[in-house]
Formats: sequence, C-alpha cells, structure tokens
Amino acid sequence: MKIINAVKFIFPGISENERTARAVVSAFLVQLDPTVEELADIRTAVSEAVTNAIVHGYRNGSGDVELHMKLLENREIYLRIKDRGCGIPDVEQAMQPLFTTAPEEERAGLGFAVMESFMDKLQVKSKPGQGTTVTMRKKLGEPPCRVK
Ligand code: ATP
Ligand code: MG
Repeated sequence: MKIINAVKFIFPGISENERTARAVVSAFLVQLDPTVEELADIRTAVSEAVTNAIVHGYRNGSGDVELHMKLLENREIYLRIKDRGCGIPDVEQAMQPLFTTAPEEERAGLGFAVMESFMDKLQVKSKPGQGTTVTMRKKLGEPPCRVK
C-alpha cells in the first residue's frame, strides 16, 4: 500500500478529547474534499472508537490514545485508534450489536456496529491488560468537479 500522507496524533484519553479527535480527523480529510456524508461517517466512526478507548479502555486508569491517519492511493483512508488500557477479553462478543459491558451508563452497545456500517473495513485487535487497536478503512468517491 502506497502511503501518500500520514499523520499521527497522540492525546490524553479524557472525554474533552473526543471532540478534539473529531476535529483532527476532519482537518486531515480536507485534502480529499470529501462529501458531507463521507465526512460525517468518518468523524462518527473515529468518535466511537476514541470514546471506547476513553470510557472502556481507560475505565480504571488513564493513558494516551493514538490516532493514526493515512491517505493511501485511490482516495482510501486508513485509520488506527489505539489505547493501552484494559483490553477486551472476547472481541467477537464485544462486536455483536447491542453488546455492552456498561448498560448502567446507558451505553447502547452500538459503537462497533456504527464503525462497521460507516466504514468499508473494520478490524479490532485486543489483549486483556495490554490494550486495544481498532483499524478502519474507507475509500472515498471521486472528487467533486468544481467550476472555477
Ligand atoms: P455505545 O458505543 O453504543 O455507547 P458500547 O461502547 O458499550 O456502547 P461498543 O462501542 O459496540 O458499545 O463496544 C462494545 C463493548 O466492547 C463495550 O461495552 C466494552 O465492553 C468493549 N470495548 C470496546 N472498546 C473497548 C476498548 N477500547 N477497551 C476496552 N473495552 C472496549
Ligand atoms: Mg462504544
């Protein structure tokens, strides 16, 4: 995979930074001139992954979240969100729609389902005690034709 551009953003896993991460990914996507829908989909998927890192991964502690953004050939976006938190004991179960370990916090268990539906590819790797890495890809449509 040929990397055309890549940016790594590392930030403390605190809830204020959910918004920061959305803004950073939007800024990275500007170079592609995405549609409003593409932008909204990717922002939402990143937001879900970052929120998970903060509210679940660092539930019993604190640490940094890493957001890696890459622009690949053919307008494909690659995103990796990584925490070094508590990890997920059963990833397959965690990815089932409506599965949540935090129902008392009114979590719906839909974060992974949202990431899956808004992106083309989703991969989750996790080790209990070591953390979680979410990798997502999405190919954007043709750039809009602008009249000069
Ligand atoms: P919602 O996203 O709808 O608010 P949710 O976060 O519980 O609810 P998902 O995002 O689908 O739902 O995640 C499912 C479950 O996977 C979580 O309840 C949590 O147990 C686990 N999980 C997800 N991401 C992480 C993570 N980064 N670290 C540890 N556990 C995680
Ligand atoms: Mg979630």
